[in-house]
Amino acid sequence: MNRVLVLGGGLDGLAAAVILARAGLEVDLVERLPSLGGLAGEFPLDGGRAVPGIVPCGWGMPGDMARELGPHVENLEWVDSPSFLPPKIQAEVRKLGAPLRRLFSRPPAGAGTGLLGAALGVRLQGAASVHQLARILGMAATDWLAELPLDPEGRAAAAASTSGLSPHGPSAPGTAGMLFLKEACSFPIPAAGPAALAKALEREAVEAGARFLTGVGVASFVVEDGAVVGAVLDDGERLQADQVLSTLDPASTFLCLMPAGTVPPAVEREARTFRSRGTVGLALFQAEGPAEKGATMEFCSASHLDALERAADAASAGRVPDSPVLMGRLWQGRDGASPTGVAEILHLPAPGTFTWNEEARGSLRATVKVELEMHLPAGVKAGPPTLLTPEDIGIRFGITGGHLFHGEVVPDQWHLMRPGRLLSGYQSPIQGLLSAGRGHHPAGTLAVSGLLAARALVD
Ligand SMILES: Cc1cc2nc3c(=O)[nH]c(=O)nc-3n(C[C@H](O)[C@H](O)[C@H](O)COP(=O)(O)OP(=O)(O)OC[C@H]3O[C@@H](n4cnc5c(N)ncnc54)[C@H](O)[C@@H]3O)c2cc1C
Repeated sequence: MNRVLVLGGGLDGLAAAVILARAGLEVDLVERLPSLGGLAGEFPLDGGRAVPGIVPCGWGMPGDMARELGPHVENLEWVDSPSFLPPKIQAEVRKLGAPLRRLFSRPPAGAGTGLLGAALGVRLQGAASVHQLARILGMAATDWLAELPLDPEGRAAAAASTSGLSPHGPSAPGTAGMLFLKEACSFPIPAAGPAALAKALEREAVEAGARFLTGVGVASFVVEDGAVVGAVLDDGERLQADQVLSTLDPASTFLCLMPAGTVPPAVEREARTFRSRGTVGLALFQAEGPAEKGATMEFCSASHLDALERAADAASAGRVPDSPVLMGRLWQGRDGASPTGVAEILHLPAPGTFTWNEEARGSLRATVKVELEMHLPAGVKAGPPTLLTPEDIGIRFGITGGHLFHGEVVPDQWHLMRPGRLLSGYQSPIQGLLSAGRGHHPAGTLAVSGLLAARALVD
């Protein structure tokens, strides 16, 4: 085995290319967009500036993995992920969740031994810890947050920080669990934005000898005798490979690119049952205001948890909420440049449940502009926002359902269950085909899925 085709030039595809090329394999990475980075790449705005990645990233990358990916990655400026809990509570959460952190940087062990190890780690902290963790993981975010010393705005911001993971409002069971995991298991993030990480990975991959084909997508896999042996590109070119590693979402990999009749029924079932209703849109904007070197700032437009719940209710009924909730980040400009910003517009109707005509877009753009004016820090003024609806995200980045994590991040679709029992281990049951990316184990943590999948191939 010496030639590997990597599909997708986002963080996961780039990390996979680095590890594979460094192991001496011949690596071709195919990316449909003209530039690399995927969701984490630079997003150009009208007016010449660019947002340094539309991912505000709350989960980050474990330090040992940054080291493994090479000096360009390790030597980026890394800062702590933002937390939305009071410092004392955050420290307690991190202590309680410490044994779970390893789950984000280890491959899904065959029989769930990773989970058992994590459970044992919590048990060793004492029976009270087990009880507390078991209680929080299944709770609704509203109930857990009501117990914490936070004001209504603080509760809303904390819940909003993970509201983009699923269509559910903060009173749905399990939403506290995902918030807990994010707070307990977050790692440092690149201070200059995710695009800086994408650029660093690109340099590592080039230096390791990987080749990139950009501006052309993969149209289908070539399957011979049940094994994937290459891919056909959108322009008709056929590429042979000993192994194909896809970092696209599970439905794209297993339902769209595999020729009809070649997918084992159990794999097809798993890919079909994986839920990926994208309910987050994005507003990207240039701003005028103080340009402090390297500083970033988060803001949330909801003043109460009810605002999130109402928005989720409207979206589930196929309506755009009257008051959309924004969860945003301002990237302060470097070298005197003015800031740029990205705001997640939480709880919009999922693709297929709403028609985004010009009137609907215009009305959302106007509401977003007003919300930005009200919630950006004093002295910062936003220019006209560029809107991406969940549908736009799906089309632009080739993501089924338009979900920013390639699929909902909910307790039954996390870790060993992501995207399902058969497919979470990177090496798929289809010979010659590996799958990774945001819709695969572990969910959260930048580039880790691609790195672990590449390791699975070279080990
Ligand atoms: C607002 C927001 C917040 C987020 N927060 C976090 C966070 O806190 N932590 C976290 O870990 N993640 C977060 N994410 C998820 C984020 O998307 C990932 O971390 C990461 O950027 C995904 O990388 P990826 O390589 O798996 O996928 P992508 O970036 O989606 O890359 C896949 C690539 O495949 C390409 N492609 C699609 N179809 C084809 C085809 N047929 N042929 C060739 N190429 C194709 C696409 O163009 C794309 O470039 C967030 C996302 C957003 C936007």
